[in-house]
Parts: sequence; structure tokens; C-alpha cells
Amino acid sequence: MRRMIFEAEHDDFRRSVSRFFQTEIGPHAEKWREQGFVDRWAYTKAGEQGYLLLWADEKYGGAGIDDFRYEQIIIEENIRHGDIGFYINLHTGLVAPYIEKFGNDEQKQRWLPGCITGEKILAVAMTEPGTGSDLAGMKATAVDKGDHWLLNGSKTYISNGQLADLIVVAARTDPESKHAIGLFMIEAGMEGFQRGKSLKKLGLKSQDTSELFFDNVKVPKANVLGDPTKGFAYLSQCLARERLVAAVGSMEAAQTAFDLTLEYITTRKAFGKPIGAFQDARFKMANMRAQIDATQCFIDQLAMELNAGRLTGEVAAEAKLLATELEGRVMDDCVQLHGGAGYMEEYRICRMYADARVTRIFAGTSEIMKEIIGRSLGLDERKMK
Ligand SMILES: Cc1cc2nc3c(=O)[nH]c(=O)nc-3n(C[C@H](O)[C@H](O)[C@H](O)COP(=O)(O)OP(=O)(O)OC[C@H]3O[C@@H](n4cnc5c(N)ncnc54)[C@H](O)[C@@H]3O)c2cc1C
Repeated sequence: MRRMIFEAEHDDFRRSVSRFFQTEIGPHAEKWREQGFVDRWAYTKAGEQGYLLLWADEKYGGAGIDDFRYEQIIIEENIRHGDIGFYINLHTGLVAPYIEKFGNDEQKQRWLPGCITGEKILAVAMTEPGTGSDLAGMKATAVDKGDHWLLNGSKTYISNGQLADLIVVAARTDPESKHAIGLFMIEAGMEGFQRGKSLKKLGLKSQDTSELFFDNVKVPKANVLGDPTKGFAYLSQCLARERLVAAVGSMEAAQTAFDLTLEYITTRKAFGKPIGAFQDARFKMANMRAQIDATQCFIDQLAMELNAGRLTGEVAAEAKLLATELEGRVMDDCVQLHGGAGYMEEYRICRMYADARVTRIFAGTSEIMKEIIGRSLGLDERKMK
């Protein structure tokens, strides 16, 4: 189905982005999966093309393009032709906005230029061994010591955990209040900051997901983003964008899996005819086609809502829920249609199936998305008593 939101300039942009991922990134994906991380130069190479933080102001070296459709194109082309573990989406779409929205001008001057060139790789650390969905249960603390903050605690499952040069770390700043959270910018090499091992995962093999440890890290006051008690409010301001970024990735993964499978079932034969000629295969493909088209329309509409400054966390939760659940169902059907080949790692669909499992878990689980949507309908036990 023709997508309605893109203009001619977006189509031109997509062509060059697609070429970049096909020639510069995709050919390294296998090596990166084997080594368990993406080579750092991938970020600087993307930076040279102007593909990182496109929205950033020109005074920091950005392109000043505040149009999410360009970012959407980069996410889509990376998933289709590049490497799903190359977390350009996390860098540009999830973490850098914290600096842009809540950093002061000195902080933006200090950090944004390196993020735009790709010399500074970003990560965000909220999840802890004891808590993920329920961030109010966070244990990491930061204590005000006058001229600095003293950070203690640990984080886990942190994407870009090994490569990151700059990490937004959430920590509790008032023992009396569950909701007083600060966002601290931790830089590689700070004394007391250590990276744990890169965690072995079901999928996303080239992503360096890690544990991080903070032992009496002296964080300069100049490394605090905004008000050190308002971290929760800051996180929630960025969540709508984060959910949409996740939904965009899941839609492209579903579409790519669909295309791979369509090709496979037109050539693979059983009982003297192509698999795609069996009614069951046709029905599966038809069902996927209809659901992908419908959900893609919704996601595209929300890209325009984000551009207009109207995207709410609740509607973005609907998008994340729908897109990631659909991705899961599509991957399952596509593996089935590949037969035994679908279970073999040498086939891309096998790796995509494993990669896809996490999208219903990270950036807020499907259950948490439903809670958010449900509460927006007034179905909140705290208000219903
Ligand atoms: C590959 C990967 C990369 C990640 N990257 C990052 C990162 O870069 N930074 C970061 O901070 N975190 C990251 N995470 C962490 C991720 O965001 C959390 O795993 C996720 O939020 C779920 O938290 P949890 O693992 O503690 O699960 P839990 O919160 O323990 O949840 C377990 C189960 O209980 C359900 N549940 C919990 N609460 C409710 C409720 N109220 N109602 C109904 N069901 C509920 C959940 O939906 C889930 O099914 C990553 C995780 C993975 C796997």
C-alpha cells in the first residue's frame, strides 16, 4: 500500500539512506553479531552522512530538521538493510532528546556536537536488577555533597552499555520521596563507574547490552540534567517519542519479514507446487498484509502527530502495543512458512524471530502499555474508589 505521509524530498532521502545502509552497514552485520558489538566507526560514519540527531540545532552542528519522517526513514532502512543491533535509533531518538530538552546551553555545547558526529555514543540507564517496569522501586541513589553529587547503585540490561561514552543515569535524590529522581550524565572514565559483562541474549546479538556499576561516583553539578527532583516528569515527557520509535522499528521488521517470506514461498516447493499456492499460506500472507497495512497507517499518522507536537503518551502506547504484538505474530507465521529453514540461523527469518521477542518487553512491556491505555480511559483504581 502506498504510504501517504512522505513527500518527494523524503523519497530522495530514503534512496540515499538505503544505499548507505546497504553498502556501509549491512555487510558488517555478521561480524558484529559474532563479536557481540557494533564497531564504533559505524556511528562516526553515520555522523558523516548527517544521520545522527538530524533535529539538532545548527549551532551544535546538527541539520535542524525537526521532521520525524526523516528519522523514521533512517530507522526503517537500518532495520531492512543495516543491522538491527546498530542502535542509531536509541542514540538519536531516545537518549539525545534528554540533552536537548532538559540540558542547559553549556551542556548542549559540551555534548551535542560529539553526539552529532558519532564520536560520543549514548545510552540511558533506568532499569535495575530489582526493578524495571516499576521505576519508582529504583534503588540507585545520588546524594548532594555541596559541590558534587555522589552516585551509588547498579543498572542492568543497558543497551550500548559497553560502547557508550555518555550515559543518562536515573537515581533517587531524596530518601523521603519515591518520586524524587534526578538524571545524571555519566561519562566514560569517571572514577567509580564500571561496566559489567556484556549480557548473552536470545537475539539482538550485535547489541552490547550490559550491566553498569556506580560506586561513589563523584558527579559534577554541571552533569545534572535540569532539576534533580523532576526526573520522573522528564522521563514521561520523552516516553511518547520513545514508544513511537519502538513502533516504527517493529513495523519495519514485520514488513521485512513479510517480504522475505513472500519470496521464499514463491520458490520453495512441496507436493509439486510452490508453498505459496497452498490456501493456508495464502491466508496467512493475506492476514499479515491486511494487519501490516492497517497498523502502518496508524503509525504514520502518529509520526505526523509528533511533528505537530500533539503525540500523547497514551496514543503512543497504543502504537507500541499494536506494532510490537503484530511483529511477534508476523515473525511466528513467517518462521512457520519457512519450515525447518525458519529454525536455522543462516536464514534471516530465524534471527529476526529471536530479535523480535524483546520488543514486547523493552521500552515498557505490552502489559504496561495496556495499563497506560486503560488508565487513560479512567480505569484507575486509585481514582475509582
Ligand atoms: C535487550 C534489552 C535492552 C534493554 N535496554 C534498556 C536500556 O537501554 N535502558 C534501560 O533502562 N532498560 C533497558 N532494558 C530494560 C527493559 O526496559 C525492562 O526489561 C522492561 O522495562 C521490563 O522490566 P523488567 O525486566 O524488570 O520486568 P518486570 O518489571 O519484572 O516484569 C515482569 C513481567 O511482569 C509484568 N508486569 C510488571 N508490572 C505489571 C503490572 N503493573 N501489570 C501487569 N503486568 C505487569 C511485565 O509486563 C512482565 O511481563 C532493556 C531490556 C532488554 C531485554
